[in-house]
Amino acid sequence: MELPRNLGRRVGILGGTFDPVHHGHLAVAEAVRQALALSSILFVPAFLPPHKPTYAISPFAHRAAMLDLAVADRSGFFVSRLEAERGGVSYSIDTLRTLQQTLGKEAQLFFIIGMDAFAEIHTWKANRHLLDYASFVVIGRPDHCRQSCGQTVAANFPGYTLAENQGCWQGEPGRGVIYPVAMAPMKVSSTEIREAVRQGSSIRALVPGAVADYIEAQGLYR
Ligand code: ATP
Repeated sequence: MELPRNLGRRVGILGGTFDPVHHGHLAVAEAVRQALALSSILFVPAFLPPHKPTYAISPFAHRAAMLDLAVADRSGFFVSRLEAERGGVSYSIDTLRTLQQTLGKEAQLFFIIGMDAFAEIHTWKANRHLLDYASFVVIGRPDHCRQSCGQTVAANFPGYTLAENQGCWQGEPGRGVIYPVAMAPMKVSSTEIREAVRQGSSIRALVPGAVADYIEAQGLYR
């Protein structure tokens, strides 16, 4: 598997369906990069998302091509096609293990996840082992990010306690930690964009220009 050479030592991982990528995804990536001083953000489009019906999503090649366009003029943002190269259902545990093994011990991984998805973490494959390979960065609304995060940590990650001075939950030494990052939600979703295209409305305010051009040229979401 090929990875960009210049990921650096603190690598954020943002997985998703990205059908299509939009300004909300880019804003989250930028906010986390700044909050945790990350060296790069690796966008990892899911090949077969475990939580979505496959008939409903666009071919992987289109979703990845749109991500390429979205990150083209942003230094430190990269796209990986590793979940398509692996094939099968895209489980985060397999992706994080592969990335940690490929990048080696000197790289630290930060797995970025929305509060809604984190609250469902008990349904994820090998959920506790995710922290063997990466720290979590949980994005939540400013008013209750910490509180909601704390509830999910307590219910799913025994042995993790809040280290007030570090602003994160920690478990055994050597395992990943869990950072809450508060961010006002951006009112944009891929669902809304697909619906807007179907209805003939402009999506230019919601996605990078090159992505809007691609959607138009390829006739996606009509
Ligand atoms: P869909 O509407 O098709 O369900 P989506 O817009 O939620 O898609 P995904 O590709 O499922 O996009 O999201 C990937 C990741 O980005 C998830 O962790 C999700 O929580 C996060 N995310 C998506 N939209 C936003 C947004 N507007 N603000 C903050 N985070 C977002």
